[in-house]
Amino acid sequence: MKILVTGGAGYIGSHMVHLLLKNGHRVAVLDNLENGHRESLPAEITFFKTDLRNLAETEKAMASFQPEAVIHFACYIAAGESMEKPFLYFENNLLGGINLLEAMRKKNIGKIIFSSSAAVYGKGKNKPLKETDPIAPSNTYGETKATLEKIINWYAKIYKIRYVAFRYFNAAGANYGIGEQHEPETHLIPLLLQAANNRRKNAFIFGDDYPTKDGTCIRDYIHVTDLCQAHLKALEYLTDPKNNSEIFNLGTTEGKSVLEITELIKKTIGRNLRIKIAKRRPGDPPFLMADITKASKMLGWRPEKSLEEIITSAWQWEQKLASNKS
Ligand code: UDP
Repeated sequence: MKILVTGGAGYIGSHMVHLLLKNGHRVAVLDNLENGHRESLPAEITFFKTDLRNLAETEKAMASFQPEAVIHFACYIAAGESMEKPFLYFENNLLGGINLLEAMRKKNIGKIIFSSSAAVYGKGKNKPLKETDPIAPSNTYGETKATLEKIINWYAKIYKIRYVAFRYFNAAGANYGIGEQHEPETHLIPLLLQAANNRRKNAFIFGDDYPTKDGTCIRDYIHVTDLCQAHLKALEYLTDPKNNSEIFNLGTTEGKSVLEITELIKKTIGRNLRIKIAKRRPGDPPFLMADITKASKMLGWRPEKSLEEIITSAWQWEQKLASNKS
């Protein structure tokens, strides 16, 4: 299939591109390279250095490649930053999203897979969340994801577009010789590994007074390759015209606290790291774990990789990054 991947030079997007190529698909990437890395992408893809906030340029890319399906990753992703710079998040994530849908409509592209987020659930609760649980984001990043889910649903109602929206829990780990590389890095596992590798003096735990077993936040960490595998299943699903648009959680069901992750990293890689307790990060919910019954029943998908594999692969990537930088 011919697939256009927006944000394909980013962390999850670039893993997706590698997996699509391995599975025989033809791939174009649309990315403004504000946060993406061109060098994460194989040479054989078509590349559009395009910003989704520019509708005319987005349409041009769509017309030139004429994909059968779009996978939409491109967006700003840092929940904490979204509480400091809401305008940037609303502008980039929402305007980018509607421009993409409009370009798809104009060029008659009928299938989209959208990267939504567990952040749509807001506070979460102390058990795995179902897709039917209330939507109440606690940061503006989550609000942009919840809003774009609704907008895509309107496009699906009004036009001949069908979609799968995936609510990602915490993507982590690495594959294909590439990995997570945000500037600045905000995610827990890469920051802890940088501290273990002496590229940072300390790692910080944002809050130890949450109503959880050890006071630190619980998240559901899923290997990036497992996430990408679900997208392959969604492409198959959307290929059958009888299948309706759907929303699915993607996680593992298992929650781990920030402290547990810290301990597991020390044990898995056999290194120590210095931790400091810092104040809570605004907008962070105490619990987020996925109920994945729906994706497993309807898409026949299940995550396969363990937390140890996540940590080991992310550690290999961290060492590669550190040696590239030295
Ligand atoms: N976190 C932390 N220290 C850090 C980065 C993150 O304690 O340096 C916590 C954060 O508060 C959250 C969890 O780790 O509870 C996962 O955060 P991350 O930014 O990796 O992903 P998010 O859940 O925000 O998407």
